[in-house]
Amino acid sequence: MNRLRALLSALVADWRLQALLVLALLLGAPQLSPGTVQIASFVLIAAIFAQSINLLTGLAGQISLGHAGFFGIGAYCTGVLVKTHGLDVTIGVPLAVLLAGVAGWLLSFPAKRVRDVYLAMMTLGFGMVFFEVVREWNSVTGGTMGLPGVPSAALRTLTILGIKVDGLAYFQLLLLITAATMLAVRNLTQSRIGRAFYAIHISEIAAGSIGIPAGATKQWAYALSGGLAGLAGALYAHLVGYLGPESFALPRSIEVLVIAIVGGLGSIAGQVLSATLFTFLPERLQVFAEWQFIAYGLILTFSLMLLPKGIGGLLFEAPRFIRPGARARAGALHADAAMLRPADQGAALEAERITMRFGGLVAVDDVSLRLEPGRITALVGPNGSGKSTLVNVITGIYRPSAGQVRFAGRDITGLADHQVAAAGVVRTFQDPRLVPHFTVRENLLLGAHRQLRHSGVAAVLALPSATAEEASQLALVEAVLALADLTAVADRPIDTLPYGTRRMAEVGRALLARPRVILLDEPAAGLSEPEMERLTQLIRDMKAMGLAILLIDHHMDFLADLVDDVVVLDSGRMIYRGDIAGMRGDAQVIAAYLGDEAAHA
Ligand code: ADP
Ligand code: MG
Repeated sequence: MNRLRALLSALVADWRLQALLVLALLLGAPQLSPGTVQIASFVLIAAIFAQSINLLTGLAGQISLGHAGFFGIGAYCTGVLVKTHGLDVTIGVPLAVLLAGVAGWLLSFPAKRVRDVYLAMMTLGFGMVFFEVVREWNSVTGGTMGLPGVPSAALRTLTILGIKVDGLAYFQLLLLITAATMLAVRNLTQSRIGRAFYAIHISEIAAGSIGIPAGATKQWAYALSGGLAGLAGALYAHLVGYLGPESFALPRSIEVLVIAIVGGLGSIAGQVLSATLFTFLPERLQVFAEWQFIAYGLILTFSLMLLPKGIGGLLFEAPRFIRPGARARAGALHADAAMLRPADQGAALEAERITMRFGGLVAVDDVSLRLEPGRITALVGPNGSGKSTLVNVITGIYRPSAGQVRFAGRDITGLADHQVAAAGVVRTFQDPRLVPHFTVRENLLLGAHRQLRHSGVAAVLALPSATAEEASQLALVEAVLALADLTAVADRPIDTLPYGTRRMAEVGRALLARPRVILLDEPAAGLSEPEMERLTQLIRDMKAMGLAILLIDHHMDFLADLVDDVVVLDSGRMIYRGDIAGMRGDAQVIAAYLGDEAAHA
């Protein structure tokens, strides 16, 4: 099965075969009956529509029960512009895409504030509002009577730029548009944007820690998804020629979700197959009359039980998030991890008199800390003494109850986590937070997100400039992989690897985010002896690069020959600051912490 999957994946990824398939359909279509051509046109529209769910739900992890709304906005926009105002389809359809995209962008603002069930309810509400507006806005939409007479291929009333377009020509046009859409979605998935979408899907906090803003990323996802749904709706309008509110009600939102999920979120080819299945099947099932819906329902129920990852998961390998072209180019480049050395050195991070309260609990109590470039500061103390909380405050996950964080002389207290990361203060987590389905390499490249500056258009078109930029970051990724001894497992999904490997990968990812200050929260926990040595060397390398390093750990031997300064916390209070030799003799530290450790040993 795995071999079949690999073969099928290679086949669908081969552009020559893709081109051949499109060509065969283009040339073969005239042999088909007009009825079949029309159903095939519906398949293509459903496939585009399913891609809008794929982007929003599959990639970015945002569920929507109101996508019929965007579909409808697209359909009515071009319908009204072309029918009522006499504009050409080449203007009506792009404007429809734009309007639906703007609607998606607007919906992202309330959507950002909620998640899960509440998000589902909110998008359901959006769909219902759209439906009601269409029904009530008689003068524009025709209300419940609908909008007949939209220039349409099926009714042979469609002209594009003065050329008459019949059902067959429209199908051929749809085919080209669908192919272009699939390419665009594929390129987007294998770009910084697709990786960011998936990163916020998995963990907004992890994404924020390497400078990816969850809010702005969601706005993009909603806008793109809305635009794609609008495109499907607009193409639908000029196929059928009649728009009635019932076509844009809840069942259509559900149908597209079903197609996308059964197709396999993330799998473009799976969704084309699923769109084919769910468009042809109801037609075929009509002979069974009233049994039709029972059959449909049974297919739905069992498909998700039998194929949790959908058709795509059954037939194809999981999608990848790096363009093969970028990887090939990176192979020819030489990068040295020394290139990660910060350009502007000499900035210190100062946390001044930080206090963090959770209700009545004082987790961090009036702690001050200074991290200097090229110095390693250990932060130690018993469990629950406030170490992770201090890191969370410094990196913008919590706003401190009192105190100030300054970096390079700038007050960064209360900045959002992604802004702190963008300023050069990057952390790892006590519990590694990687993207489980990403390979090690993809996880590391995610760290370089902010270094990739090319536009969304360049990413979607996979322009050479975008590929070159990705390749240059990938070359650095390879250097860090080598440094962290991860090259051998670079192509493995990270959730298949041992805990220690994941920890190293997270440190590598943080390093690729170009930190000037790096805060490592228990990076050595769970590491084997050889991994520990690797980590020690990696931390020494980072020190040599001039990074300011905060290292939380419990192993005194590990810390002893590594760190320059030690800060000891106990119950949120700083009880010692100085060198490690002094700490070992400090009565308070022995009483609060080391005695404890010794007892454990
Ligand atoms: P450490 O990392 O030193 O083991 P933490 O910083 O994780 O300690 O926790 C310090 C104290 O703050 C603990 O008592 C913990 O239960 C509490 N704490 C941490 N985060 C929160 C939170 N979000 N809400 C409430 N209490 C918290
Ligand atoms: Mg902790």
